[in-house]
Parts: sequence; structure tokens; C-alpha cells
Amino acid sequence: MKKIVIASKNLDKVKEMRLALQTLPVEILSLADFPDMPDAIEDGATFEDNALIKARFFSERTGLACLADDSGLEVDALNGLPGVRSARFAGYHADDGTNNQKLLDELAKIGVNESAAAYRCALAFVDTDRSELVTQGKIAGTIKTVAKGTGGFGYDPYFYLDESRTMAQISVAEKNKISHRGAALRKMILKLRTKFL
Ligand code: IMP
Repeated sequence: MKKIVIASKNLDKVKEMRLALQTLPVEILSLADFPDMPDAIEDGATFEDNALIKARFFSERTGLACLADDSGLEVDALNGLPGVRSARFAGYHADDGTNNQKLLDELAKIGVNESAAAYRCALAFVDTDRSELVTQGKIAGTIKTVAKGTGGFGYDPYFYLDESRTMAQISVAEKNKISHRGAALRKMILKLRTKFL
């Protein structure tokens, strides 16, 4: 049976992708099955570049087909930042707390309390014959400087879906239905079904 490696160390993402891929006649592995694998250097200029860098890197090293994702937040008032730097906006050892503080600091510097924003996700699939598939997903919203909610992760408490609700106030199932990652994943599943069914 065809094997696909999900190239993520994030257990939640692996779980979500594994679930979505289970309708395909493929065996799903993850980087947990390859313990000594080095990290790919994500130095691309776009989410698509970085997803492809990871999928190519791990496909070459495992000798198997590979699916990788890259995602982040783009804030209009910050000219698209943090963008591909979302995970390390506050520096190399950044975490959600320091990244969110950096976001608030950058908005304060320009005197902005609210800005249009979007989460974006790119998914890249690289097969053993080196053929490639890429899909994208996006969800638009508003970044406000008042945090709400304890769910989700990353910038979710500051990402407003409408006037009152943030991405940190909805369930995981609800988030998957509307999120950038969910959208990119659904498009990728359609392409993979055409390829493997
Ligand atoms: P990566 O795709 O795992 O590299 O994630 C990039 C970064 O973008 C994360 O560390 C978060 O800071 C941010 N990000 C991506 N997707 C989300 C999301 O759904 N909610 C909140 N933050 C996100």
C-alpha cells in the first residue's frame, strides 16, 4: 500500500491530517516514525515555498511520499507581518505568549487597535516520482488588541471572526470547518483522491 509521511512534529496537526486522509487507500506515517530526522530550514518567502521545502526535504530523506504544511497570520496594518515569521515573530525562542506580546507592541508603535487580517495555510505533497501538488486556504478576520477566549493556539485570542467572537472561543471541530488549514486540507484530499483512487 502507498505510504504517505505527514511532515509535522505538531501532534494536533498530524491527528487532523490523519483523520482527513483515512478515506484514501494509503498508509499514513508521521515524523514520529523517523526519530532522528533533522529539521528542514524554512527560509522560503511564502507559505507555499516553506511547505514545498519541507515536503521535498522529508520525501528525499524518507524515500516516501510526503505531505507538509506551513501557515501563519498576515496583519494588514503591519504590511502582512508576521507572515512566514509567525512562529518566531518574537525571536528564536518565541512562544505564543511572547509572539502575541510582540504583535501588540508592533500595533501600539503605529497607534492601531484594530486591523483587517487573515490566517493562511499552504499544503504541499511531494511524491516519490517528485511530482508535486500544492493547495492553499485562507480565513479573513480582524485583529483586535483585546484578547478573548482560551481555546485554539497562537494568535487565536486576538483573531476576531466577527464583532464579538474570536478564534479562541470556538470548538476544534468548528475551527476545522472554517479554518485556513481545514480549507487547504479539503482541497488537497480532493487532489489526492483523483491521484490514488
Ligand atoms: P506552523 O505552520 O506550524 O509553522 O505555524 C506557524 C505559526 O503561525 C504558528 O506558530 C502560529 O503562531 C501561527 N498560526 C498558524 N495557524 C494558526 C491558527 O490556526 N491559530 C493561531 N495561530 C496560528
